[in-house]
Amino acid sequence: MPSNDVLAGGEMPQSRWILDLTEQLPGVIFQLHRAPDGHMHFPYLAGSGTRLTGIDRHDLARDALPALERLAEPDYPRLMAAIERSARSATPLATTFRLRLADDETCWIALRAQPRRVDGGTLWVGLMIDISEQMAEEERLRRLSDTDDLTGLANRRMLMKRLDEEISLSNRHGLPLSLMMLDLDHFKAINDTWGHLQGDQVLRDLAGLCQQSLREEDLVARLGGEEFAMLLPLTPERHCRQLAERLCQSISAHDFGFGPGHVTVSIGITEHRIGDARDILIQRADDSLYAAKHGGRNRVMASD
Ligand code: GH3
Ligand code: MG
Ligand code: MG
Repeated sequence: MPSNDVLAGGEMPQSRWILDLTEQLPGVIFQLHRAPDGHMHFPYLAGSGTRLTGIDRHDLARDALPALERLAEPDYPRLMAAIERSARSATPLATTFRLRLADDETCWIALRAQPRRVDGGTLWVGLMIDISEQMAEEERLRRLSDTDDLTGLANRRMLMKRLDEEISLSNRHGLPLSLMMLDLDHFKAINDTWGHLQGDQVLRDLAGLCQQSLREEDLVARLGGEEFAMLLPLTPERHCRQLAERLCQSISAHDFGFGPGHVTVSIGITEHRIGDARDILIQRADDSLYAAKHGGRNRVMASD
């Protein structure tokens, strides 16, 4: 069996069958050595994954740099910090990072390693596996859980998340932030007259109109039913009002399939005030929406 000691040049005495076995591993097993001056190298590296990077493993036996240079930019300092922590506290190294492959694609790697102090620094024994497929699946699920099925817009959950982020920025830096609440007028009658499927199509078309009228950094969300919200960072109330007026008019002029003028919306707007909690902001926009409904619908109302 191979010993755990650091050997120069990455060569270790191994029986043929162990060599065959490790070369077929769907990942990499390794020793990583870090000298007190910070120099790192892989005394031992085996597994089918060692071919992934397009780096000669014999080079890595002398110097880990060619592999470290393939780390995606934001992951380099994170991995270095994790290595440092693991070395200092002698606790296992467990992290994930992205590695740029030879063909400019990126793969996600999960790394687990156990550190041990040795004469010339720290020696980790561990394994790395490619988790790109799991990460892609997680990303797909995350996107699904943030998305409204019918319209493809952000859902309530996503809106709340972004609201928290934007409110925090607004509180910290005094940046303007506006919120619009939009509700279809007499939508029940649209369903009753044209049918539920046509009603669904109105919701989808409306989602498209809202998105077209806003900027990339704005967020349009379907809160549920026939109610939508729009979050506008860096936007004071007077700009938000202009946008809302324009949107309100373009919706009432739009032909949703049964002639213009049949679909209108009421919109309530408000601007974030420093110190406002999320619920306060939503409540004020809701109150404005309520006022727009009571004011006769097909109109925009702002908070006092
Ligand atoms: P108001 O102007 O006061 O908002 O009247 P309204 O008819 O729009 O409001 P109300 O709350 O009375 O009715 C909302 C309607 O929206 C009833 C419901 O069937 C319909 N609705 C909610 N979600 C959907 C949906 O996903 N698809 C369709 N087609 N209709 C929906
Ligand atoms: Mg309605
Ligand atoms: Mg409603």
